[in-house]
Order: sequence, then C-alpha cells, then structure tokens
Amino acid sequence: MDAAPPTAAARLCAECGLCCNGAMFHMVILQPGENPRALAALGLKIKRKHSLAYMPQPCRAHVGGCCTVYEQRPQRCRIFECRTLIRFAQGEITESAAMEKIHEARSKLAIVEAILAQVGETRIEHPLAKRCDNITLDHEANPPALRETLAAAMNDFDALLEADFRITPDFYPQMNADPKQG
Ligand code: SF4
Ligand code: SF4
Repeated sequence: MDAAPPTAAARLCAECGLCCNGAMFHMVILQPGENPRALAALGLKIKRKHSLAYMPQPCRAHVGGCCTVYEQRPQRCRIFECRTLIRFAQGEITESAAMEKIHEARSKLAIVEAILAQVGETRIEHPLAKRCDNITLDHEANPPALRETLAAAMNDFDALLEADFRITPDFYPQMNADPKQG
C-alpha cells in the first residue's frame, strides 16, 4: 500500500528543523513517566542534571530533515508547535507564507553558520547560541569587528525566532513555558 502523502505541517517541518537542530533550543526536558533508558536505547543522547533528565540539542535523531524516532519521540516534542505552525493551523497564514517564513529563518541561520565556519568554529554538536558565545566572548582570540558581525547576525536570526517561532504564554495560554525547552 502506498504511504499517505505528507501533511502540510510535515512538509513545513521537513524544510525547517529549527526546533530540533540546536538553532532554537539547547535541550528537551524529559517529563515524569518518560523512560530515559528506553529513549537512550533508540539512540537519543540523554543527560542528567540533578533530578532532571534531558536530551541535548542538536538532536541526534534529526537526520535529513526528519525525526528518526518520530513514533517514540519525547512528550515535549509531541506537543511543541512553533508560532508559524500554529498560525498556519489556525488559518492565519497560508502554507506558502509559512514556508516563506521558514526560508527566511534558514537564510538568516545560514549567515550565522557561514561566519562560524569562517572562524573555524566547527563544534556542530553544540547548540548554536553556545557556538556563537565561544566566538563573541573570546576577546583575545577574535577581533572586535568579527565579534560584532557575528553578534549582529545572531541577533537578527534571534529576533525572527522570537517573532515567528518561539512561543510564549500570552501567545499559547495553555502552556506556562515553551514546551520543548522546559
Ligand atoms: S520550528 Fe516549527 S516549522 Fe520548524 S520544525 Fe519546529 S515545529 Fe516545524
Ligand atoms: S526526538 Fe525528534 S522531534 Fe524531538 S528533537 Fe529529536 S528529532 Fe526533533
């Protein structure tokens, strides 16, 4: 039997990946009742800090724009929808407008990544904000002009995330915090 065609949301997420690739979040906190060992057995990296179990980002399961553990993904991954996806689901924007927003974000992210590559910051296993901090906070190794250029590119990207991707209680009243972040 042929597989069902992807939904519009699946098409948008496959093109985006910002909530899985470390550009938007640095971790996904596991919830009571979730089994860290079972998730680790799927290949997910699970860490602990005190009583908190979490999955650092970038997520290992995010491969080729897809979630390789989709059916068994953690609870917070199941409930998270970014602003753009919610606006699309509520009929406020069309699929092509949502896709345009995703492409805009990906372009801004590409600028940040290009600067990081240029200065040899290749620790792609770390979240984007940490990689940027490695450069902008190292005043001895990096000249002011470079640090300012990177900070400006990151601020530009972050402003778009804030406006169109992150969610806040006023926008998403049933949540008291960004559900993927904790
Ligand atoms: S940020 Fe939104 S559109 Fe992008 S992958 Fe996550 S839920 Fe999908
Ligand atoms: S488990 Fe899947 S949905 Fe959750 S962060 Fe990883 S790739 Fe994304």
